[in-house]
Amino acid sequence: MGNPKAFIEVARQEAGYRPIHDRIHDFGEVEQTLNSKDRRTQASRCMDCGVPFCHWACPLGNKAPEWNDALYKGDWELAYKLLSSTNPFPEFTGRICPALCEKACVLNLFSHEPTTNRENEAAITEVAFREGFVTVRNPVRNGKRVAVIGAGPAGLAAADALNIKGYNVTVFDKNEAPGGLLRYGIPNFKLNKELINRRVGFMKQEGIMFELGQAINDVSPLASEYDAVVIATGTPVPRDLKVPGRELKGVHFALEILSQQNRVLAGAEFNKEERITAKGKDVLVIGGGDTGSDCIGTAHRQGATSVTQIEIMPRPIDGPEDPNNPWPNYPRTFKTTSSHEEGCTRRWNINTLEFLGEDGALTGVKVQEIDWKPNPDGGRPIMVEKGKPEIIKSELVLLAMGFFKPEHPEYPANVFICGDAVNGPSLVVRALASGRDAAEKVDKYLNK
Ligand SMILES: Cc1cc2nc3c(=O)[nH]c(=O)nc-3n(C[C@H](O)[C@H](O)[C@H](O)COP(=O)(O)OP(=O)(O)OC[C@H]3O[C@@H](n4cnc5c(N)ncnc54)[C@H](O)[C@@H]3O)c2cc1C
Ligand code: SF4
Repeated sequence: MGNPKAFIEVARQEAGYRPIHDRIHDFGEVEQTLNSKDRRTQASRCMDCGVPFCHWACPLGNKAPEWNDALYKGDWELAYKLLSSTNPFPEFTGRICPALCEKACVLNLFSHEPTTNRENEAAITEVAFREGFVTVRNPVRNGKRVAVIGAGPAGLAAADALNIKGYNVTVFDKNEAPGGLLRYGIPNFKLNKELINRRVGFMKQEGIMFELGQAINDVSPLASEYDAVVIATGTPVPRDLKVPGRELKGVHFALEILSQQNRVLAGAEFNKEERITAKGKDVLVIGGGDTGSDCIGTAHRQGATSVTQIEIMPRPIDGPEDPNNPWPNYPRTFKTTSSHEEGCTRRWNINTLEFLGEDGALTGVKVQEIDWKPNPDGGRPIMVEKGKPEIIKSELVLLAMGFFKPEHPEYPANVFICGDAVNGPSLVVRALASGRDAAEKVDKYLNK
């Protein structure tokens, strides 16, 4: 902690987003970066707390006080060494993590101006790649083989940790390229896919093998062939909205448009029939969460005429305090993302009754305003209708209502599960932690 007064003298400074008129026309990352002097000044704000709640909140157990101090002192190499000692891929979390550590930061408690850990993390990692601090490691092989099914963040983290321990690791994925939702869910304007290519390039040089375009539907052959298997297959089944008209052309799951758009940006071609586009359409996003927000940003960039987002639950309370979930927990308060800033009508307490269409194509959605009343039996609140149904004009509906937590059969003892596949839909940082933990379990199992 180089400057003990910095947290008093220096205000939190975020790099902010590119201007809307500039970013709305491309899929480049929206977030900007600070110059290295300002970045180091931001790192100086960390107080090196006796009880670092940032560390407590981070599923990876980040060492924010240590790497913030190294960053403040200009020792970027040490900062990366400390950062990567707990986080295998800080270039991803540095961009798309909701930063549980910042919400738990002690500075958030008393001034609502926590340290800029997430941005600091991204900056440290970019310098590390640029300056050659990220090097190819050559682990000593132990002769044992592990198969990882799923090349999302959980599978990649497990593969990385096992490889470094000396296992021969092969990662299988049904997609044509690795990354899972990092590549085929999260839009490029939040995460540039070259970052995945760069990291996977290092992993390949370090000996990890990738078998892509291979869906593994039966784990048993791999469990016999390999010493251990790690399942990291995520949550492939989205929640549907089975109301009349669901079959109409123009009603899609969020991931259909998000993954297709990311593939198009990677050079894939789709014919007119397959292509899902918001161009010239009134778009309705159903679901008020982050996936819905990603649909909004994508619809804007594709040239939507208008974008509306509806949510069946009530509007969250305004922050930053959340009396129902106080510091150091993550506040469940009203959020405005970069995509919302770009323009969107947002409504809450709206139930969807029916998709309406003409000649098989969507023209609108019948919705109903509702209220939630407490349940006298103490169970789930009761939905009551308010006023009359209304029709929202729309030619494209995107269903962003979450994913089901998968169920798994009983597997042989040498099979381990991690990431969203075991936790249900969650966060990249939790997937990384879970993948790392699965690697530990495999190692213990194979050395018992
Ligand atoms: C649109 C969207 C945006 C998100 N944005 C954020 C964000 O900003 N920040 C954040 O922290 N989290 C975000 N998340 C959540 C985050 O992406 C996930 O929690 C995380 O990717 C889970 O990692 P995973 O490795 O467990 O699964 P996944 O990323 O889903 O990866 C699973 C992999 O398994 C493969 N697979 C599945 N079945 C098989 C099979 N049978 N055989 C072979 N391969 C298979 C899939 O092809 C995939 O590559 C977002 C999620 C979505 C949907
Ligand atoms: S809680 Fe905040 S100020 Fe304290 S050590 Fe962590 S990042 Fe630094």
